[in-house]
Amino acid sequence: MHVAYIGLGSNLDGPERRIEQALTALDDFPLTHLVKASPCYASAPVGPQDQPDFVNAVACISTCLSPLALLDQLQALEQAHRRRRLRHWGPRTLDLDLLTFDDLCLDLPRLKVPHPHMRERAFVLVPLADIAPDLIVAGTPLPHLLARVTDGRLRRLSPQR
Ligand code: AMP
Repeated sequence: MHVAYIGLGSNLDGPERRIEQALTALDDFPLTHLVKASPCYASAPVGPQDQPDFVNAVACISTCLSPLALLDQLQALEQAHRRRRLRHWGPRTLDLDLLTFDDLCLDLPRLKVPHPHMRERAFVLVPLADIAPDLIVAGTPLPHLLARVTDGRLRRLSPQR
């Protein structure tokens, strides 16, 4: 069994409901269980500002899938939510990122782990710290990463599950 952390984000068509649906779907992936999910947070969009705030959460899963098989599942789930790629960093119905996979470091054309942008994103690090405060990301303890980001306009939406 492997342990992976998944970042979830949405800012279109009922974002909180979509995140909840996606968490249920993660638990339904083959050979995979949802272990824990963070509360949802609202954050100002990265990139173009003329779009709704994002809702983000982080999930911990246990899985027997390989990293690429897990990415296939995540991308199929994004497609199932008819993710629209209208513009770079524009609005999206569902965005799923593989943040970490055990202690693995991968640099493949399709998959980079740990996720290359997770270290600078409060909307990833804050919910991640809710469910995995002691996580080490490629040698760096999560609290050290958190200390380097400002949480900007991050707002916790739902109570801790
Ligand atoms: P994004 O705009 O963040 O959804 O980027 C999606 C692209 O990033 C896809 O082509 C993926 O193959 C690639 N990618 C690379 N590393 C990762 C990762 N750790 N999690 C999700 N997608 C990734």
